[in-house]
Amino acid sequence: MSSHIKLFIPGPIEVSEKTFRAMCAPMIGHRGGEFKKLYAGIQPRLQELFGTKRPVFLSTSSAWGVMEGSIRNLTKKKVLNAMCGAFSDKWFDVSQRCGKEAGALQVPWGSAVLPDLVREALSTGEYDSFTLIHNETSCGVRNPLREIAAVLRDFPDVMFIVDSVSSFSTEAIPMDELGIDVLLTGSQKALAMPPGLALFSVSERAMQRAATVPDRGYYFDFVEFAKNQEQDMTPSTPVIPLINALASKLDDIFTEGVEARHARHAALNAQVHDWVKARGFDFFAPEGYRSVSLTCVKNNREVDVAAWIKNLREKHRFVIDGGYGKIKGKTFRISNMGDETHETIAELLAALDDTL
Ligand SMILES: *Cc1c(COP(=O)(O)O)cnc(C)c1O
Repeated sequence: MSSHIKLFIPGPIEVSEKTFRAMCAPMIGHRGGEFKKLYAGIQPRLQELFGTKRPVFLSTSSAWGVMEGSIRNLTKKKVLNAMCGAFSDKWFDVSQRCGKEAGALQVPWGSAVLPDLVREALSTGEYDSFTLIHNETSCGVRNPLREIAAVLRDFPDVMFIVDSVSSFSTEAIPMDELGIDVLLTGSQKALAMPPGLALFSVSERAMQRAATVPDRGYYFDFVEFAKNQEQDMTPSTPVIPLINALASKLDDIFTEGVEARHARHAALNAQVHDWVKARGFDFFAPEGYRSVSLTCVKNNREVDVAAWIKNLREKHRFVIDGGYGKIKGKTFRISNMGDETHETIAELLAALDDTL
């Protein structure tokens, strides 16, 4: 592992040897007692991280499976997709591909979705579901979740679907307290696991809605997940090695302490921000709406980002991201998710200086 290239892109990110080792446990049957014990054993800690009393479901898919599933399970009338970057823009496209009526609440890339905009759009009465990406990874924008959640309280028929793929476990997202109906995340971002597992929880009222929505399919049918959950199982054969990795990662998280983990991410993010300012770069997202798990930097110095990253990879065996989609080269992104420390971030920043 010593000569591998270490990823500081916003997912997938560096996976620890401990996590990889956990994946190598002998295989077990997914309908047997050992699996049920594994599944039931991780529930309390998952519920604590989700801030919910509801069960946490495990989907053998990347996050998009559950993002699509949320639409298929909860949209009867029309979904409103809040859009502020590549992932949230795509959710609108996915809604339509699911055959649903969808409305676009678009703000420019780099801007946050503000609560008043959400209120205005929902006030039309057209919608029965709403999707929000908490941390828009492509732009480094952190949307004001708590304020938007307050708006949603005034629209009790609208299901509140929240993607926390790149913010989960880096800060508190108390699902029950905020009235979130679906909170979802994936394994390869902030949880620092390999890709292939999505985690999600569904409110009671959303489960009731799902039971009345036709054409939910099978693989992502929330009702199937709930039925199997009663026996500590998943609808289909799950990715057992990643569930073992998850159990190991939960040990890490609760050994460090959830609050300490949040504080570490804030401190490492500030460390990156200090470097950005000291080197004369700007941020792509406005102050007050910047992600704490990654930094999207505006390339106002007009450096050759692709060449820089190539040098970084060859000389230091680190990789950062050179910008997503239409902002490739105009921005670059540095992740501080996962198991990083002040020392490892300092190492990266020194390597960035060396190759700039
Ligand atoms: C990466 C990412 C996704 C998509 O995840 P997949 O694992 O590719 O399905 C969705 N939302 C956000 C915010 C992301 O960062």
